[in-house]
Amino acid sequence: MRRKMAAGNWKMNGSSAALSVISDLAAAHADNTDTDIVICPPAPLLFRASEIARSSAVTIGAQDCHSETAGAFTGDIAAPMIADAGATHVIVGHSERRDAYRESNSDVRAKAKAAWEAGLVAILCIGESAEDREADNTLDIIAGQLSGSVPNGSTGDNLVVAYEPVWAIGTGAVATTAQIDEVHDFIRARLVQRFGAEVGNAIRLLYGGSVKPGNAVEIFQCDNVDGALVGGASLKAQDFTPIIEALI
Ligand code: PGA
Repeated sequence: MRRKMAAGNWKMNGSSAALSVISDLAAAHADNTDTDIVICPPAPLLFRASEIARSSAVTIGAQDCHSETAGAFTGDIAAPMIADAGATHVIVGHSERRDAYRESNSDVRAKAKAAWEAGLVAILCIGESAEDREADNTLDIIAGQLSGSVPNGSTGDNLVVAYEPVWAIGTGAVATTAQIDEVHDFIRARLVQRFGAEVGNAIRLLYGGSVKPGNAVEIFQCDNVDGALVGGASLKAQDFTPIIEALI
């Protein structure tokens, strides 16, 4: 049985005032030992967020990392710095970064490797654009992103793959359960083929893209959906809580 995961990606939202969301979630889920609850706030909040989450059911992740451990990379954050701030996870390869910062599959692969070397769990995002889907290229794109972005050497625990169709992110357009099943089953088969059954079946697969309290229950019924990567609906404890509860 894979542990469920609810991960919240705050993107470039939230100030120190938003840290109360983390204490509210910690209080609301004090008895939840079944689900990994991960909040990924903007980098300046990582240290304080980790302090607040310490010894609770909530853990903290960053939204990106550099592939190098240190050096002349103005504005960037190295994976060991994220671990040093008390975080345990890092999102890599989010479509907003693949798009706006032209991150390639090999960039994402190097970042995931750096995350593992720093002892972090990599939440690695993949997903097709609307044009890819219309051209019936979805599974080819997913296959290419998996082979190009996922490094060798996954232990199962150190990797979470988030399937986020780009057209569903922040749009309110959610993939149908048939579309989610097709892609998640495909990802699972590819991971098993590459890493063997034990590791391939241990890697958690999250769906992301307009997950809300109103659609979470249905999405979580898909066999190979082990949780969600949630943007907008993770900014308020009252929105994120029902999504977490839908996993139990
Ligand atoms: P959304 O974002 O839930 O606001 O669609 C998901 C994401 O970008 O991870």
